[in-house]
Amino acid sequence: RRRVIAQAFGNLNPRQLEGVLTTEGPLLLLAGAGSGKTTVLIHRIANLLRYGRGADAQEVPDHITEEDVRFLAEYVEKTAPDEWETSRANLLCALEPAAPWQVIAITFTNKAAGELKQRLEEKIGPDARDVWAATFHSACVRILRRDIEKLGFPASFTIYDTDDSLRVIKECLKELNMDDKAFQPRTVLGYISRAKDEMLLAQAYLDQCKAKGDFRLQKIANVYLAYEKKLWAAGALDFDDIILHTVRLLQGFDDVRTYYQRKFRYVLIDEYQDTNHLQYLLAALLAGGQKNICVVGDDDQSIYRFRGATIENILSFEQEYQNARVIRLEQNYRSTGNILEAANAVIRNNRGRKGKNLWTDHGEGEKVQFYTAGNEREEGMYVATQLLRAYGEGKQWRDCAVLYRMNALSNQIEMALKSNSIPYRVVGGFRFFERAEVKDMLSYLCVIHNPQDDLRLLRVVNNPPRGIGAKTMEHARGIAAQEGRSLWDVLSNAGQIPALKKAAPKFQTFVDLIRSMQRLAEEVDLPTFYETLIQASGYGEMLSAKTDHESKSRLENIHELSSSISGYLEHAEDPSLGGFLDEVALYTDLDSVEEADNCVTLMTMHAAKGLEFPVVFTVGMEEGVFPGFRAIGEEEELEEERRLCYVALTRAKERLYLTCAAQRMLFGRTSANLPSRFVQEIPAERVQAGGKIRRPQQELLSDTGWSGEERFSQVQRPAAPQPAWPSGTRAAPAAYRKPAPKAQPMLDLRKGDMVRHSAFGTGMVLTVQSMGGDALLEVAFDNVGTKRMMLKAASQFMT
Ligand code: ATP
Ligand code: MG
Repeated sequence: RRRVIAQAFGNLNPRQLEGVLTTEGPLLLLAGAGSGKTTVLIHRIANLLRYGRGADAQEVPDHITEEDVRFLAEYVEKTAPDEWETSRANLLCALEPAAPWQVIAITFTNKAAGELKQRLEEKIGPDARDVWAATFHSACVRILRRDIEKLGFPASFTIYDTDDSLRVIKECLKELNMDDKAFQPRTVLGYISRAKDEMLLAQAYLDQCKAKGDFRLQKIANVYLAYEKKLWAAGALDFDDIILHTVRLLQGFDDVRTYYQRKFRYVLIDEYQDTNHLQYLLAALLAGGQKNICVVGDDDQSIYRFRGATIENILSFEQEYQNARVIRLEQNYRSTGNILEAANAVIRNNRGRKGKNLWTDHGEGEKVQFYTAGNEREEGMYVATQLLRAYGEGKQWRDCAVLYRMNALSNQIEMALKSNSIPYRVVGGFRFFERAEVKDMLSYLCVIHNPQDDLRLLRVVNNPPRGIGAKTMEHARGIAAQEGRSLWDVLSNAGQIPALKKAAPKFQTFVDLIRSMQRLAEEVDLPTFYETLIQASGYGEMLSAKTDHESKSRLENIHELSSSISGYLEHAEDPSLGGFLDEVALYTDLDSVEEADNCVTLMTMHAAKGLEFPVVFTVGMEEGVFPGFRAIGEEEELEEERRLCYVALTRAKERLYLTCAAQRMLFGRTSANLPSRFVQEIPAERVQAGGKIRRPQQELLSDTGWSGEERFSQVQRPAAPQPAWPSGTRAAPAAYRKPAPKAQPMLDLRKGDMVRHSAFGTGMVLTVQSMGGDALLEVAFDNVGTKRMMLKAASQFMT
């Protein structure tokens, strides 16, 4: 038993332990990056399930022996002699443990939720499965499926992702004869989203805009009205609706609210700094009964302001919950001293923050590497070089991550990694579920599940071609809109509609297909059903009839969707087609980091939140890129960018690289950017600078202790294109002051040559194929198998 207790609390520090054991009442855990907030959250749930309540208990229940109490007393005394605010007796008494279904833990990504479940299961066994560990969205979908009919929506509502929403907006703009240049769909959707965050439905929003007398806003409100109508007709909810309607449901229906408030004895929320107003309301509603709400967050890591997240939620927690206990953690367990100090120094420049300083006892570690490349290609090569170096030193690929401000920066990095045979995975790029063919198959599934879904129906009705022309469809849509019916309704009764009579048999084929698939769905398991659909719809045949490479890979992709279905079946509690579609719909771009494969992770800084890696690269550290142009001169935006920088730097455990390029081609334009101000905010003694050092430009240097040659020097670079340098070499143009090492000559390799690669070891060259001034090598290495790499890139690692 003692061992069990000791294990349960692991090696938590006194403050963390307090967070775990103070189970009752509102609790705010406010602490910097890597201080163990998420760790506390997980231990806390384990503790609730195993030992139950801590504070306020008068009696020691039977299942706690005296020996347990003594052990805990000693343990607490040893670790936290005077710091407890709760009396020891209170602390040590345990009441009945919570049942798993009484606990709801909300995290930011599906991945984080899955991880939480997994870690809990390791700790306490299969009971953990009944804990509601979910994202805001998936928790809400679960609540809505049970009760949304009270709000007039069908329980089988469909979920529209951002892409779907944008399409609907475009349609609305067209119908309203509004120019989609003047009213960009994304901007309009942003307005609608913000209105929803204030709980304004379309009519209320329109009234508000009229009251303000703002003509442009009124036009946007009209789009909102049309948009709302379309979603209503299709029985669809967008991402914001999911939260909005849950809040409306809980506010408007006492029985529903009471049910959940009784059910959830404990509410826990990670990354609370990134909640928006609606999510805040939701959390307060769920926890409204017993007020056992524990929120965890860091005001310095609030990076979703652009989506309406408000730091106020965290800053005003103490006012909101009068008797809230606040625990601050200050020890960072993640990073070395140099990395942590670099991050601390950057964030210190923000004004709007609750100050705090993290420390670590990990030692100073390596200095932060700052590298200035000539251009983005060289930057990519530098990253590849350093990755190979780390690999050669025994790091795994999965230990490394490359972070960037925006997806567009990943291309050159990808190319460099590819040409060096470094395995990698891009998170949130062009994702599997966004591929056209996958969306097509998913649309079939959606229509089978809910035929009222006009948007998805339109996508597949003539795909593969069934001889239904665009004009005919336009006609059918017109009729549906006029009569307020769904397209499905119109298509399945086309025989009775004179204007559609001619096309009726073709529509009938489609309607029959959907109906027969609906019947099949009742009879067979999901994977069988899906494989049948591929054939029955004619989609599979359409692809297999083509011989080009593209069609082949599309065919593979639609079959690959089966693996997603199987994956879903493995972990779903009560698997169904609807459940699978929900899961896919909620699979946001923050997710899909899979650890199974050993490869380098490439992702945006936003997606990296909450994660950690031994080796981290942050690329594109330039003014105009990060911070972006729009943030420069805008104090609030700049502070948000700086928080993002703090998030990025604090992902690193042991080694941190910052890179920038003297000249960069981005979005088709070449520009010469100065190194990011964030880099300059890091004290010089924490940094080792390399690459193309340039002359200092005094007025641009902040006063952070850079001196003389040590300063990161910079001059405005000529906008003229640089001469092409053999990629991967460090040769610097003469225009730069620092004398450059000579470019390494390319190796002359032939089939059968033995080579030694600094990361992959010895191997034999299998093929050499020349390719546009470079050559593609295939080398069979003794230890790591056959790799393909570009000769120019590989030359510097090989002898
Ligand atoms: P972030 O703000 O980035 O989300 P966090 O505060 O949630 O960070 P965690 O991810 O919980 O921090 O912890 C960071 C690292 O520190 C993890 O590797 C965790 O295992 C480790 N850690 C946490 N607490 C302790 C402890 N008491 N002793 C040793 N290691 C710890
Ligand atoms: Mg965390």
